[in-house]
Amino acid sequence: MSKTHFKRTKILATIGPSVRSEEKITELVMAGVNGCRLNFSHGTYEEHEEEIRWIRAAAEKKGRAVAILQDLQGPKIRLGTLKDNHLDVHAGDELILDSAVTEHDGSLILPIQYNLATKVKVNEPISLFDGKIRAKITEIVSETAIKIVLENDGFLMSKKGVNLPETDFGGDVLTEKDLNDIAFGAEHDFDYVAMSFVQSANDIIKLREIMKQHNYDAKVIAKIETQKAIETDKHLEEIVKVSDGIMVARNDMSAEAGNEVVPIVQRKLIAFCRRHSKFCIVASQMFMSMVENPEPTRAEVSDVANAVVQGADVVMLSDETTNGKFPIETVKQMKKVILYTQNHLPVSQISQDPSSENNNYDAIASAVVDLAERLDVDLIISQTGTGETSRILAAQRPDVPILSVTSDPHVANQLALIYGNTAFTRPYSVTYGIDLVKELKASGYLKVPEGKDELLAIIVSGNKDRIAGTDTIRIRHI
Ligand code: PGA
Ligand code: MN
Repeated sequence: MSKTHFKRTKILATIGPSVRSEEKITELVMAGVNGCRLNFSHGTYEEHEEEIRWIRAAAEKKGRAVAILQDLQGPKIRLGTLKDNHLDVHAGDELILDSAVTEHDGSLILPIQYNLATKVKVNEPISLFDGKIRAKITEIVSETAIKIVLENDGFLMSKKGVNLPETDFGGDVLTEKDLNDIAFGAEHDFDYVAMSFVQSANDIIKLREIMKQHNYDAKVIAKIETQKAIETDKHLEEIVKVSDGIMVARNDMSAEAGNEVVPIVQRKLIAFCRRHSKFCIVASQMFMSMVENPEPTRAEVSDVANAVVQGADVVMLSDETTNGKFPIETVKQMKKVILYTQNHLPVSQISQDPSSENNNYDAIASAVVDLAERLDVDLIISQTGTGETSRILAAQRPDVPILSVTSDPHVANQLALIYGNTAFTRPYSVTYGIDLVKELKASGYLKVPEGKDELLAIIVSGNKDRIAGTDTIRIRHI
């Protein structure tokens, strides 16, 4: 490994039918996947248990940490099953959405998986089929049904997403299913948990309380995809501050707020995350055309390259790996674009907030990164108990690999998705950082650059395992 072969932006792949085997997941990890997302909108607990086992086995085989992320469905509202899986609709049509209807008879009375009658108000906008059909709510018809009037022509299919950009869920973002899924997640030790359709910082605070009751210590990701979440910059930044990381959930955001909004929110979010040492995932349709084709489009290549230049920690794959024809090839192509981009253009600067609460840590981290660049070191070794040291280093977006070593496998798995990091678990000792480098040198993973005799490293550590706080910086030839 050398600086230019080390991918600083990480890849998160969603697990689904195209890759549901230990073999395929191992191939994904070997091709460059750093974390796997289990989407709790689909699949049974038995299937998820199987997937967890396969991912852990694949990580073991590669000898590298791989993060596992539990993605909670939240109030993702979907239509029920439609007759013949197709219904043509027209502007001006009046549709009834009724959660009590179980079978669709081909009429304009449609089954829906969520009772909207208790949540919505007349005149609120609603969209069907992930934003393709726009409509307005005209009447609450019964305790389970609402009437809507369509604004454009098109067609509907079974199970397609319904969005309500202006409906206030009153902090009721976690559903009964989510609560059960959280209990399952706590039992299975996920590294991250992502909450869908977050509307405010309070939703995350509530989730943390529930997780605490279950002793669930995963890092928390807010999926940014509702109109409410992005209403003002201040509101958005509040959500970033109470979360451990965020996901720019571009599909639902686009359906709720319009596609022109998405690139701007993406830029703002990445900047907020970097400012507050939080991590940031850019998600949805990154290499969408590779569901069918062996090559991405140039627009898609640009999209990934832009996320890299903006300084995203992670780029995510959804349909490409769940239902795509070329899941492994997609990861390889993505890795290629990430490496080329990072090696030819530095991450864009953001203005640092001087009133950042993390001031002391930031000072140390920026000194380390400055030293690393001036001394042209080959790597930064972060000896970390909680992962905090590695995260504040990553927030500076160094172009030098950060080799994190920790005695806690859970921490290593979490760091697998952090910018510039690669994480290893080793029993704690004062010298475990240097020992790891020696070991990786002997195994051939770390290579001394041509023209040099030794690797030059900066070792950053706290004075005691498991205590967050960085107080020692050493420079060593190894
Ligand atoms: P989803 O989230 O795939 O869970 O819907 C991502 C998005 O909305 O972009
Ligand atoms: Mn979504």
